[in-house]
Amino acid sequence: MEKLFRQLIEELGEDIHRQGLQDTPQRAAEALRFLTQGYSQDLDAVVSGGLFDTDTRQMILVKDIELYSLCEHHLLPFFGKCQVGYLPDGKVLGLSKVARIVDVFARRLQIQERLTRQIADTIVKYTGAAGVGVIIEAQHLCMTMRGVRKQNSLMTTCCMLGQFHSDPATRSEFLSLVK
Ligand code: ZN
Repeated sequence: MEKLFRQLIEELGEDIHRQGLQDTPQRAAEALRFLTQGYSQDLDAVVSGGLFDTDTRQMILVKDIELYSLCEHHLLPFFGKCQVGYLPDGKVLGLSKVARIVDVFARRLQIQERLTRQIADTIVKYTGAAGVGVIIEAQHLCMTMRGVRKQNSLMTTCCMLGQFHSDPATRSEFLSLVK
């Protein structure tokens, strides 16, 4: 990857031997490896030790999880916040595990819709929740930095599964709590 970044920088018309750029290929490669490390992370290992038995059937919310990802169309960042709610059916996830699940999928080349769905599916898969809702609001640098200057536009995506999908009361409780 380092070699490819060197070529890319030269292709841009830069002098790769310039002092400020000397270590850039190596740094850029390390950064990109970090930002895409979700590909090599094992969900079972991430979640392990973070599942607990519970009797509660009340909605659990994890709000304002920070999220940074890369859009697969332009390889530019999108970033924002993720709201997660679920109705436990025997198991709950430790708070930090929900954020870790978000990172596993965010640190890949993504589109926001798929990321939202993958987080929701994973929470159902591990907890057996009776329903889950995930909302992501994010700003995409491919929109704000390129030609289409919409500086403050946010994209919102939403995935509702189980009772969050089928029961309007559950859905509106979730929506009012994350407002
Ligand atoms: Zn894009």
